[in-house]
Amino acid sequence: MTLSRNHADGGVEIRIALTVGLPLPLFEWTAAHEWAHVFLISSGAQTRGDLLIEGFCEYVAYTYVKRESRDPRKMWLVNELEHRPGVYGSGLRLIRSAVRKHGSRSVTRAVVEGRPDRVGL
Ligand SMILES: [Zn+2]
Repeated sequence: MTLSRNHADGGVEIRIALTVGLPLPLFEWTAAHEWAHVFLISSGAQTRGDLLIEGFCEYVAYTYVKRESRDPRKMWLVNELEHRPGVYGSGLRLIRSAVRKHGSRSVTRAVVEGRPDRVGL
């Protein structure tokens, strides 16, 4: 979980909470997901809505964990998480589809600038 709080001096405090004892591939997935939230917060991302925000963060985690897809534990995790129902799985599939059509740089820019319509989101 990632929490942010604005300070009176204009600074932003960001805290990440990770569960202890997760299997390593799931820990990596979760850490990458939360890191993506930090990226969006620190970038001043303008996009709102759980589907796109959680989907973007899930896509970052998916890409990070999938890079070592020869590890059977990671292959299993990627397969499970990319097919799950709900906002995380649906968001991941939505963002992944946009990245395949428009590229990761364009999708990231569109999400940060609050113009997801530019990449069909
Ligand atoms: Zn999240």
